[in-house]
Amino acid sequence: MTRSHLIPTYNRQPVSFIRGDGVWLFDKTGDRYLDALAGIAVSSLGHGHPALTAAIANQSRRLIHTSNLYEIPRQEALATTLCGHAEMAAAFFCNSGTEANEAAIKLARLYGHRRGVETPRIAVMEGAFHGRTLAALSATGNARAQEGFGPMPEGFVRVPYGDSEAVAALADDPAICAVLVEPIQGEGGVRVPPDGYLSELRAICDANDWLLMYDEVQTGVGRTGAWFAHQHEDAPPDVMTLAKGLGGGMPVGAMLVDGPATDLLAPGNHGTTFGGNPLACAAALSVLETISADKLLANATEVGEYIRDSLRRRLDGVEGVRDIRGRGLMIGIELDRPCGELVAAARDRRVLINVTAERVIRLLPPLIMTAGQADTVIEAVGDLTADFLAAG
Ligand SMILES: *Cc1c(COP(=O)(O)O)cnc(C)c1O
Repeated sequence: MTRSHLIPTYNRQPVSFIRGDGVWLFDKTGDRYLDALAGIAVSSLGHGHPALTAAIANQSRRLIHTSNLYEIPRQEALATTLCGHAEMAAAFFCNSGTEANEAAIKLARLYGHRRGVETPRIAVMEGAFHGRTLAALSATGNARAQEGFGPMPEGFVRVPYGDSEAVAALADDPAICAVLVEPIQGEGGVRVPPDGYLSELRAICDANDWLLMYDEVQTGVGRTGAWFAHQHEDAPPDVMTLAKGLGGGMPVGAMLVDGPATDLLAPGNHGTTFGGNPLACAAALSVLETISADKLLANATEVGEYIRDSLRRRLDGVEGVRDIRGRGLMIGIELDRPCGELVAAARDRRVLINVTAERVIRLLPPLIMTAGQADTVIEAVGDLTADFLAAG
């Protein structure tokens, strides 16, 4: 074999897919795999969805890119639709989750400076994941991801996730200007915070005039059965970032703003060459329209509950299963030991899953998955987990 010319930033699994159809992916031998990961929460409508492919094909024939130097009607329409679902004021479009978070971090600093804070700081969480560019990496609570890339940008204060009192205790620090938090931690292990956590953060931010900023890059756009995960609680943000599922596979990210975050950015403050181009926006609009038309929020709620309930029954009393949790089609099964090898074992059974935080099996199926299709995932994950734990 000749040496690969790819920089090995990933340990890739020995399989490649050449075609997709709904929840199915096909390799070059024609073998069919059930996709319970959706490209890490990206392919929200599954593969080859007719509405999305038509939107992309039609828009690409008409116009792919102009520039943010000009008005872009598709971008206006996408902002209007997103702000409607989020009940927020305005949107900025970029190309990825990390870029959306960079925009939010810059916005928080601008907000701090407007308030006369010279070195604004942002409260972030242990176990957080916000992306790989430098500021987002600095906000990320994973020493291994940061290793070798110092110096990290300053201006972050880290507290335990799910502990609102730890955030409240930062009120003595006059440099704090914002809180950045995932409503459910994804990469950190599908960690669901205690009930009331986000409302408590909302109250703390209100009391201190801090911006409440949600990273909904993984949880947003229907993943948890609501348009946005924070909507399960009465705790609206000032800033929200989106990406993964938003374009159904087209790279598109967004930062939404409201209240005191609304009028901070002005021409010249921030920008992007590609962000919000007509093609990406047409794709995202089609994703949002399809989620509404096909009632995929309800589907994510029902099928997600069904998967969690079924796995709880299947794995009831199995020693080594710590927790089965999540919301909608964001599902984590935490074991008492590292279980990365289950990814290959599931792939051998033609089911695609993920393991994150070493010991959490993570399922992020397309929002279109039916209960019947979920049965195949439940059976494979249930059997493999029970066998793996029994083998000691
Ligand atoms: C994936 C992810 C990111 C980073 O998104 P990229 O598109 O890979 O830059 C940021 N925040 C959260 C919560 C994520 O899950």
